[in-house]
Amino acid sequence: MKAHTRVVVIGGGIAGCSTLYHLTKEGWTDVVLIERNELTSGTTWHSAAQVTNFGMNQTMVGLKSHSIKLYKELRDDVDYPVSYRHGDGGIRLANTEAQMDGYRHFASMARGMGVEFEVIDAAECARRHPLISTDNLLGGLWDGNDGDIDPASLCQALARRARNAGAEVYRNTPVIGLTQHKDDSWTVHTEHGDISCEIVVNACGYRVNEVGAMMNVHHPVMSMEHQYFVTEDIPAIVEAGHRMPLIRCPISDYYCRQEKNGLLIGFYEQGCKTWGMDGIDPHFVNALCPDDLDRITDVLEGAFARMPALTDVGIKTVVNGPITYTIDGAPLVGPIPGKRNAFCITGLRAGLGEGGGHGWMLAQQIVHGEACYDTWCIDPRRFTGHANVELTALKAIEDYQNEFRFHFPNEHRPAGRMAKTTPLTPILAAQGAAFTVVNGWERMEFIKPSPDFHVTHSFHFDESFPVVAEEVAAVQNGVGLTEVNGFNRFEITGSDAGSFIDRMFCGRITAEAGRVGLGYLLNRHGRLKGEATIANLPASDRGPVRMWYGSAAASEYHDMDWLTKHIGADEDVTIKSLTNDMTILVIAGPKARDVLQSVSRADWSKAGFPWLSVRECFIGFAPATVMAVSFSGEMAYEIHVPNASLYAAYTALREAGEAHGMTLFGAHAIDSMRMEKGYLHWKGDILSEFDPFETGLDRFVHLEKADFIGKAALTLRAKTAPKKRLVTIQVDSETTPARPGASVMLDGTVVGTVSSGGYGHRVKMNLAYAFVDAAVAAQGQEFAIDILGLIVPARVVAKVQYDAANLRVRA
Ligand SMILES: Cc1cc2nc3c(=O)[nH]c(=O)nc-3n(C[C@H](O)[C@H](O)[C@H](O)COP(=O)(O)OP(=O)(O)OC[C@H]3O[C@@H](n4cnc5c(N)ncnc54)[C@H](O)[C@@H]3O)c2cc1C
Repeated sequence: MKAHTRVVVIGGGIAGCSTLYHLTKEGWTDVVLIERNELTSGTTWHSAAQVTNFGMNQTMVGLKSHSIKLYKELRDDVDYPVSYRHGDGGIRLANTEAQMDGYRHFASMARGMGVEFEVIDAAECARRHPLISTDNLLGGLWDGNDGDIDPASLCQALARRARNAGAEVYRNTPVIGLTQHKDDSWTVHTEHGDISCEIVVNACGYRVNEVGAMMNVHHPVMSMEHQYFVTEDIPAIVEAGHRMPLIRCPISDYYCRQEKNGLLIGFYEQGCKTWGMDGIDPHFVNALCPDDLDRITDVLEGAFARMPALTDVGIKTVVNGPITYTIDGAPLVGPIPGKRNAFCITGLRAGLGEGGGHGWMLAQQIVHGEACYDTWCIDPRRFTGHANVELTALKAIEDYQNEFRFHFPNEHRPAGRMAKTTPLTPILAAQGAAFTVVNGWERMEFIKPSPDFHVTHSFHFDESFPVVAEEVAAVQNGVGLTEVNGFNRFEITGSDAGSFIDRMFCGRITAEAGRVGLGYLLNRHGRLKGEATIANLPASDRGPVRMWYGSAAASEYHDMDWLTKHIGADEDVTIKSLTNDMTILVIAGPKARDVLQSVSRADWSKAGFPWLSVRECFIGFAPATVMAVSFSGEMAYEIHVPNASLYAAYTALREAGEAHGMTLFGAHAIDSMRMEKGYLHWKGDILSEFDPFETGLDRFVHLEKADFIGKAALTLRAKTAPKKRLVTIQVDSETTPARPGASVMLDGTVVGTVSSGGYGHRVKMNLAYAFVDAAVAAQGQEFAIDILGLIVPARVVAKVQYDAANLRVRA
């Protein structure tokens, strides 16, 4: 074994082998893979190994397309051909119109990535898969790229290519410890000696937390037992004379593909079982869990009813193995939170299909700092402090039980709820609040008009539409109150805080005491990394001069990582997170000032506290920090309160609000209003794939600033015309919003992708934001958007549809 290398990848399943190979493809060839046993002796060896192009968002579709392209290349390699049956096709079944709508949306979304899915009816499903019955079937989604691959030869082929490029692979070499040094480099301790390196990658499958513990990290990954069986030959398959397409069934929770002349069927039973929660036997190598077919009888019946031919054949083999899940079903591929020079590629539940693409995403992040697609949907930092073993187990079970049932827009499933709440949560619940979940935080969605009010999950506008319209009207005409909990808040102090912040943002952030500014952080490629407000708090009896950095609720670990990474060795900067200690109450509407004035002694007049001011004060007797900022487009105040005083502040505001008819409003109302104002969502509209010019944030860029992260790259980018532009679009539909991912079409060609969509209740317009080709981004440009399979007329309109002059926020 070498003494030193650039990257050590720990784990030789598909995740590790793909990462190693892609590191060499990105040009890093002094890299090593260390495997405790033989390659593919974890989950990979017994995988059903289906490969699909289906994904829930464009990043997943894009990385799966990469897998398919790569696997075809490996199949066609004459020196070492991998067995890959590509193009058998596959059908995701549906028995409800709502599921069919979902498939129509996914087809529209995939088209933007150059992938064609087909939505087909029940008769066509049966024509393509002669073994299935059409009882209780409406139709399905056809993925022509579906197929399956031989896991062992795939991993060997990737390792072989990586070795040929200069990488080394050490088998039968368990990693037993990790030491990180002051310069952030690592020593990897193995049973056969040590190796030092710059970067480590945890690709240890179901043993991820054994290696995680070596660096004091817990990864929110849980293993579930998962079974499939393989049948004896089925005469109807032999007679059909062609291979059967794959089936994925959300009606009865199983998948199925052809294996020789029989079928391989895998099950997602309701009475499912976690695995390895109290530790994993070190000798569990190339091993399986005991068969337990009794556990799957609930779903077996559904499979038999769909494919009656199954009733007459015997079972040849049963496989029961551990499969990993995370809290939201997507893997963890990227930087390990709170660590430097440490990455993971883990929690893969469809690792054979996706592994090629995930390894590609990770290698790009390691080598270039960022991948070609925005990788937030797989970023390990998207879960924060609440993501412990118990929560992960609850969500993993729920996800397993719903394996093929996608989440509808605004659907938040019941397991692991109330992970993060404030003292107001039960109070708002008692007043009828429905809740959405943001990074574990329960956030008020809207107030239900009656206790039994129910929203049907769908891709169309739902029953909450008139409720939200009323909340918006109440804010527009009077005053409303909402709680924005979980908002990310860092306190940045130290004599270099000002210059540090200046370097982090591409624009000029106000340095003036008592003022608030909005700014954007770029990566070194000049593309968007983050969005934050900076509030400059002067010294007071609550502390010295402080900068408050505020950003999206989910960004806590991501932004902390980015900021702390850039503090210079000789800079006096300290960053402390207040995210879990403070909550924001927002009052918004033309009467907001009157409410505030009646609960606080300070001068809240326009002259005394103009827009974009910040001040420490009391709301009643609750200490608070108030900012005159607005995400609704109405006069608004953000009232930041320590959680200990939240109830007191809320009570004071409610009592004062009574005289002004103050009502509650929720996150849906905010979303409607922000769409009318042209305000963006981080990781909805603010993506690492685009720069600030493409995103329409030109006025937040000051290229003449002495320096900022990404300046050199952005200066170069500024010299060429942007390829894409974010535009506001009016959509001609009364029933359905354009959901993120929907394709924007011109003359039958995809020219863009929707990033946000929703109804603007004040302007009475169905609005969307979309990144479109720059050549067709001018105001007035007519398009069509593929919304649930319908070609809906749409056009580019002015970015701001409501109070473009900001007269209401400045009033
Ligand atoms: C029954 C079943 C069916 C499946 N069907 C499909 C399917 O049809 N399609 C699909 O895409 N996916 C499927 N999957 C999932 C897929 O198999 C996994 O997502 C994938 O194999 C995970 O690969 P991995 O590399 O992350 O983990 P693993 O394959 O478990 O690899 C991890 C490696 O790390 C090594 N390691 C662990 N600790 C150490 C250490 N301390 N030092 C050195 N090395 C270490 C292990 O020995 C192991 O080789 C299925 C899974 C199961 C269980």
